[in-house]
Amino acid sequence: MNMPGIKLHPLLLLHGALVIDDSPVQRLNAVEILRQAGIQRVYEAGDGLAGLEAIRNLFPPPALLVVDLEMPKMDGIEMLQALANENYRPPVLIASATHASLVSSVETMCRELGLPILGAFEKPFTAEILKTALRYFDHILEVRQSHRRAETEVSPEEVSEALIKGQIQPHYQPKFCLKSGQILGLEALARWSSPTRGMVSPAAFIPVAEDNGMITQLTMVMLDAVLLQSQVWQREGFTPSIAVNLSALSLTENNFVNEVIKRTLNAGVAPSQIIIEITESALISDMGAGLGALGRLRLKGFGLSMDDYGTGFSTTQQLARLPLTELKIDRSFVSGAPDRNSLRTILGSVIRMGCDLGLNTLAEGVETELELRLLQSLGCQQVQGFLLAKPMPGDIVLPWRQENGARIQALIMADSSD
Ligand code: C2E
Ligand code: MG
Ligand code: MG
Repeated sequence: MNMPGIKLHPLLLLHGALVIDDSPVQRLNAVEILRQAGIQRVYEAGDGLAGLEAIRNLFPPPALLVVDLEMPKMDGIEMLQALANENYRPPVLIASATHASLVSSVETMCRELGLPILGAFEKPFTAEILKTALRYFDHILEVRQSHRRAETEVSPEEVSEALIKGQIQPHYQPKFCLKSGQILGLEALARWSSPTRGMVSPAAFIPVAEDNGMITQLTMVMLDAVLLQSQVWQREGFTPSIAVNLSALSLTENNFVNEVIKRTLNAGVAPSQIIIEITESALISDMGAGLGALGRLRLKGFGLSMDDYGTGFSTTQQLARLPLTELKIDRSFVSGAPDRNSLRTILGSVIRMGCDLGLNTLAEGVETELELRLLQSLGCQQVQGFLLAKPMPGDIVLPWRQENGARIQALIMADSSD
């Protein structure tokens, strides 16, 4: 018997699901619900060790795991870590009777381990919970397949050819002021428009470029395109800041900073209009050289943004030592924050800290209006995210703004009455 409104993914039908829970009552309940949903192969295990054993012995391995966190012998957390080590990463549904903050930190751990989380729920398991979780199932597999395709297929020769042929170009994602609703700047994100593959995302080729000594060339291709675009917009009276992502590897390369400064000035673009985005991990490898390079860029007037803030290891002290102008708060703090107390608290304190350090605070990955309102109430200054605008080719930014500017402004300003 299938659940109305839910079409089971073929992988679930073929590979089935595994329930790992030490309570026989809860386990049976979950098994029953999965079977009623139309999943024929449902396996069960009474603790983490037995779960791991089952996964190793099953062929094909289950396509979905329902995992209890508290179990004897090996608990759910240990088991998930062991799974990730074995390179088996099926979608997981976390069951728990414990505190929401623990569940939330386990979710973060899973994300770090690359284990896709369908959701976390307080026991008992119900058909409704399963239904909600399965909505994400197809999406997760799709994303994973596209990554896998990319991982296995892109070769250094292809990236090199794409760079030479000018097939790698920026798309631009607007960043909005949370008070006025105006576009303050845009982030340039690399896109490879391949004649054979279509549009390829940076996750597929940036690592290849980094590993094969081509990342600085890629950065320069991006910078040149951004400078050209900035000139075009300037002529049309549009002078936003444009952010360029920088790989750590380029930062320590001889002459890199000089080249960036030279090209920017030659293009007649004010360095203050260019924001350099770096990630925390970028600075860990060679802090001294990195700091020197960033210091010089800052001296010339470039903006410096700490990208994906919160995913690395920088302390407040380290932050204060960097010549930053902006803190870009990672999506993982934003998504889900409206209904998670612990995330909301962290988000609030990161925003306050950014403000106290005199930095512009920008939240990434805003996908819902609730997240937007929360960020407004927490005093965040800027937002970027699919709710407002996706990355787009440079030549459609102005027409897009013409068409959508008023709507976005109304959406952002809807809250400014209080
Ligand atoms: P990033 O710099 O943190 O860029 C933000 C990423 O989040 C972009 O992915 C963007 O499309 C995506 N994004 C924006 N809003 C949302 C949202 O509301 N929801 C979700 N789920 N995602 C959102 P993209 O373009 O795939 O880029 C991924 C990463 O690749 C970037 O992360 C950046 O680290 C790297 N990258 C992109 N272009 C370049 C480049 O020119 N040079 C270097 N070194 N790295 C680049
Ligand atoms: Mg970025
Ligand atoms: Mg980011």
